Amino acid sequence: MLERFYAGDVRSLSRLISIVENRSDGYRELLARLYERVGGSVRIGLTGPPGAGKSTLLNSLARQYLSDGRKVGVIAVDPTSPFSGGALLGDRVRMQEFPSDGSFYFRSMATRGATGGLASATDNVGIVYDAFGFDITLIETVGVGQVELDIIDSCDTVVVVLVPESGDAVQTMKAGLMEIADLFCVNKADRPGADRIVSELRQTLDTRKRLAAEWEVPIIPTQAVTGKNVDALYAAILKHVEVMQAAGQFEAHRREQVRRKILNILKNRFQREFIERVVGRTEFDRIIDDVRNGRTNPFLIGDRLYEEFCRD
Ligand code: GDP
Repeated sequence: MLERFYAGDVRSLSRLISIVENRSDGYRELLARLYERVGGSVRIGLTGPPGAGKSTLLNSLARQYLSDGRKVGVIAVDPTSPFSGGALLGDRVRMQEFPSDGSFYFRSMATRGATGGLASATDNVGIVYDAFGFDITLIETVGVGQVELDIIDSCDTVVVVLVPESGDAVQTMKAGLMEIADLFCVNKADRPGADRIVSELRQTLDTRKRLAAEWEVPIIPTQAVTGKNVDALYAAILKHVEVMQAAGQFEAHRREQVRRKILNILKNRFQREFIERVVGRTEFDRIIDDVRNGRTNPFLIGDRLYEEFCRD
């Protein structure tokens, strides 16, 4: 299957993504093999509130990359949705507008109950895309929670999409969101209040210490539905990658991502093994009785279970 995958077979790509997404048997060995081929893909993240126009923008950006001869992979992540696997009707409609020759691929990811691991699953699918040969990976996330921030952490360039109605949000915007933005896009600039939010953002940015001295965070008004000024957004994204590469920041960021990835792999593995080996055979009801009856307490139990785990 890997041979067909490397030859550009889209069905093999789909199969490998499913293996990785579902963490099916052997997925780690698979990723280890695929990792030999990664490095060529630049990851662009788009995040912002629902309805801001992320999907519309992403479609335009993807089309632009395609017409520049780049191969594009999209991952749309909705941590609040229980559906997954590109099965959403809207996704299928969206996909039909794009080439199916392997130069474009779309996948949506969702939680299906457990939020834990969505960020690392997204990153792993990004590794599959990279190995497949996509020049650009576009990652779209809804909202501004911790999972979204973790996902966005794995991107080289982060676009935060806001709309004129987000005015109040700017005032109270989580510091985290302000700091992760490499570019702001104020979409629906046809609506009243667009100028105001642009100047509010500018002020807020000016009062904050800039993370990278080389880069002044641009604020780009767009109208995604008509395509107005989306070319400016596209150009600014290209520019960001270029500037970061020239300044050595791109590599520094990638190194930090590798560090986090290793720690995550270890954390997940310990957690899984701990749960399998210790929690699985622990008689919780009896322990809880003992705690409630004052014979022991959760801290002592924690120590005891941890020691059992280390002894194994
Ligand atoms: P997402 O939830 O952030 O992905 O947002 P969508 O891309 O699905 O867009 C939400 C709605 O806003 C859709 O009905 C779009 O047609 C509309 N929309 C997107 N861009 C613009 C824009 O620039 N101006 C206006 N007025 N509507 C827009």
